[in-house]
Amino acid sequence: MSLEYIRPRNVEEALECLLSRTFKILAGGTDLVIQLREGRHKDLPILDISRLSELRFIREKDGKTVIGALTTLSDLLSSESLRRTAPVLLAAVREIGSVQIRNMGTIGTRFCQIVSLGRKGRTRTMPLPDFLLGPCKTVLESCELIHSVSFSTPPVYQHFEKLGERKAQAISIASTALVSGFKNGRLKGIRVALGSVAPTVIRAKQAEAFLESRPLTPDMILDAGEMAAQEASPISDVRATAAYRRKMVMAMVTRGLWPCLKEVGESR
Ligand SMILES: Cc1cc2nc3c(=O)[nH]c(=O)nc-3n(C[C@H](O)[C@H](O)[C@H](O)COP(=O)(O)OP(=O)(O)OC[C@H]3O[C@@H](n4cnc5c(N)ncnc54)[C@H](O)[C@@H]3O)c2cc1C
Repeated sequence: MSLEYIRPRNVEEALECLLSRTFKILAGGTDLVIQLREGRHKDLPILDISRLSELRFIREKDGKTVIGALTTLSDLLSSESLRRTAPVLLAAVREIGSVQIRNMGTIGTRFCQIVSLGRKGRTRTMPLPDFLLGPCKTVLESCELIHSVSFSTPPVYQHFEKLGERKAQAISIASTALVSGFKNGRLKGIRVALGSVAPTVIRAKQAEAFLESRPLTPDMILDAGEMAAQEASPISDVRATAAYRRKMVMAMVTRGLWPCLKEVGESR
């Protein structure tokens, strides 16, 4: 098999290439190299951006964190600032693959709240829900590359849980991420994200609104878990049935919210 391969020296050059014709972008290569071995993307030249150090950074400014697309998952895990501000992100990253995969795999292929797409002469920035269209589908055009992802510092309470068929190297059956602040006995700024139970990552917005509507009680947590399960739209596949996934969403959201009872008590 012969491959056409180009390694640009900087982002400017990479964008020029992308404007001139259609390429397959290579970052860490942990997904792409497997696809190439399977004979996919045969007709496309490879644009290797893995050494563009301009896209490998973690910056914190005015309550916002910006992470360059080529920052590796291991870079995130060694970041002191992320350990302080976004342990929920690190908890999720720790669940991805193995040390070898995390050393090569990059954040640009993952998710965050805002995605900035660089294209020659123009940058567009959008919230994650607008970027994700469905399984393996995004709004990214062939002349664009992902520049960075960013998010506001999440509130103090953060929780992540992944359910897989086993502990290590398992594709998730369901995952949940929760963040919240506390004020006067209530949850404030609660966000409930669900993974692997809809065509893209989703937020359980009805459960969020309900949880903020009055002072938190144990019954509300059980009801919110049920609501989140109903907001999911899981499928049945080789790993689990849709019904099981829904039940697990309920269990995981409930479990994630339970410690908040103590925290809201202290905020009264
Ligand atoms: C053994 C193994 C275990 C794994 N376990 C997990 C797991 O537990 N959870 C999980 O979520 N994933 C897992 N993965 C998948 C994969 O490793 C990760 O998704 C990783 O983050 C991919 O990053 P990468 O930089 O290697 O992507 P690449 O393989 O380089 O690229 C993947 C795709 O993203 C595009 N792309 C990359 N960077 C950019 C950019 N800046 N702009 C535009 N397009 C870009 C590429 O063109 C390509 O289509 C696993 C993979 C393997 C091989």
